[in-house]
Amino acid sequence: MIERFSYSSLETYKKCPAQFRFRYIDKIYKNDEGIEAFMGKRVHEALEYLYEEVMAHRLPFMDGVMEKYHEVWDKNWHDRIAIVRKENKPKFYFELGERCIAAYYRTHTPFDQPAVGTEIEFVFSVNQSKDYMMKGIMDRLDHDGNGNYEIHDYKSGKRMLSQNAADKDGQLALYQIALQHSYENVKSVKLVWHFLQYNQTIYSHRNEEQLNELRDNTKSRIDGIREYIQNGGAFIPKKSILCNWCYYWEECSIKQGTNPYI
Ligand code: SF4
Repeated sequence: MIERFSYSSLETYKKCPAQFRFRYIDKIYKNDEGIEAFMGKRVHEALEYLYEEVMAHRLPFMDGVMEKYHEVWDKNWHDRIAIVRKENKPKFYFELGERCIAAYYRTHTPFDQPAVGTEIEFVFSVNQSKDYMMKGIMDRLDHDGNGNYEIHDYKSGKRMLSQNAADKDGQLALYQIALQHSYENVKSVKLVWHFLQYNQTIYSHRNEEQLNELRDNTKSRIDGIREYIQNGGAFIPKKSILCNWCYYWEECSIKQGTNPYI
């Protein structure tokens, strides 16, 4: 029985039921990761450091944030990192992360946004019932002190959302549900994506009707997965380009050996 779902677990089920099974039912954890994800985590850590300093009324220089990035990159580097795009070396991704941080720093300094927390973990119910619990992590939350919130998400990947796609995206909207469930006197919530490679910011809002639609939709997705498990679902592998970034090749019936990109 899966007690808590997350936006990414629901998305994994949609992309490949077999991968979902290995990760969330069989709970097979692997250290393997793609270099894009590795770089993204380090950039997140550097920005987390930046805002933790800002919240403590210290404004670090860009050099200080870069130093943090270098430190966490070196500290976390390991030998199970996959590079699918063979034409790029680790240095390429390292420098891409540096460029993301530098552009973000230059655009947002002196960081007078009313940040109240970073990497905030939420556990919440989609519809007030314990049967539909979810969890998620907000990269950053801003609050003006008057009930107006902003949920910020940093994206270090190549994929950028159009305004239309952001207006339909479920991840930050689910965080809005979590926020409204956990905090009192929430007057407004702005959803904010930072596409770091492009130094672009996209904003969106959800009204109550849209949130209810998302609640119903998420509940149906959870029901669908539970029903599938109960009926002895086969969790069929779904082959796609994403297999290159999957680390369950040993477990997957349509793959052989270990992911060759590691
Ligand atoms: S290798 Fe591909 S098909 Fe197999 S579990 Fe991973 S994503 Fe699914």
